Amino acid sequence: MVVGIITGTGVMSVFGDSVNVAGYARSSDGADGDEGHFLECARERVLETPFGVVRLFEGLIGGRGVVVVPRHGPGHNVPPHRVPYRALVWVLRKVGVTRAFGVSAVGAVNGAMKPGDLVVADQLVDFTKCRGYTFYEGSPVVHVDMTYPYCPQMRSALIEAASGISLRDRRIYVRGSYFATEGPRYETRDEIRVFRLLGADMVGMTGSPEAVLCREAGICYSLLAVVTNPAAGLSGALLDHKDVTRRVHGASSVIKELLREAVSRVPAGDDSCVCPAPLYRRTFDEYILNSEC
Ligand SMILES: [Zn+2]
Repeated sequence: MVVGIITGTGVMSVFGDSVNVAGYARSSDGADGDEGHFLECARERVLETPFGVVRLFEGLIGGRGVVVVPRHGPGHNVPPHRVPYRALVWVLRKVGVTRAFGVSAVGAVNGAMKPGDLVVADQLVDFTKCRGYTFYEGSPVVHVDMTYPYCPQMRSALIEAASGISLRDRRIYVRGSYFATEGPRYETRDEIRVFRLLGADMVGMTGSPEAVLCREAGICYSLLAVVTNPAAGLSGALLDHKDVTRRVHGASSVIKELLREAVSRVPAGDDSCVCPAPLYRRTFDEYILNSEC
C-alpha cells in the first residue's frame, strides 16, 4: 500500500522545491532550520497519463511508501481552474496509491477559525464551474456515493496525528465544510456572506473535483486545510496571494510533522474501510486505469 499526498498553494515549498522535495527543515525546537528529510530515499519521476504529464516524488516515511504530487506543478505555475485533477489522481492509482491526503490553503468563513489554524474537512460543497469532474465520460456510467466525501479512516489519521504533536499556537478543527469556488479570483464579500448562510466554514479553489475523482478511483481520501486568511469581507483587508503563501510557510514545520505522523497512522489494509472508495477501485482499474481506449 502506498500513501499519496497532494500538495497545494505554498505547500509544495514547505517540502522544498522540485527535486529537493526530500528537504525537511526541522530543528529541535520545531522551528524551520535544520535540514532533514520529509521523504527518505526520495526520487523524482515524470509519468504520462491520458490527461497529461505529471511530475511526482516517491519515497518513504517510516518505511512506508509515499508519493507526493504537487497540485499546481513543482514550480506552482498551474492555476486552480487548470489543475489536471484527473491526471493527478490517475497517476496516484498507477503507482499503487489506495489512500491519500490532500493539503489545501483556505480562507476562513467560520469566524472562530484563525489564520494558521488547521481543519480536517468533513463536508464539501461544490461551486466550481468548468473542470473535468469525472473519469466516466461514457460507458460504463458510474455514479459514486458522495454523502460523506472524506474517508473516516484517513480523517482519523490526521486527527490522531495532530493530538500526537505540538501544534504550537494553532488549533485544529476536526470538522469543517469546505466550499469550493472556481477561481483564480478570490470571492466577493457577498459571495462569502451567502456561503456563510449556507453553512460554509472555509472556502478554497481546489477541493473539487479532487475528492470526487479520488472516490471514483477507489482512493480513500481526506483533506487537511490550512487557514491562511479570513475570507473576503470578513477582516476589512483586501486579499493578497502573498499573505496566503506566507501563512502556509509559517505553518510548514507543523504541516510536515503532522503529515509524517498521519502517514504512520494510516491503516495497512487497502480495503479495510467503511467509506465507499474501495468499492469503486476495481471498476476504475478495469475501465479507466488499464483501458486501451
Ligand atoms: Zn476509506
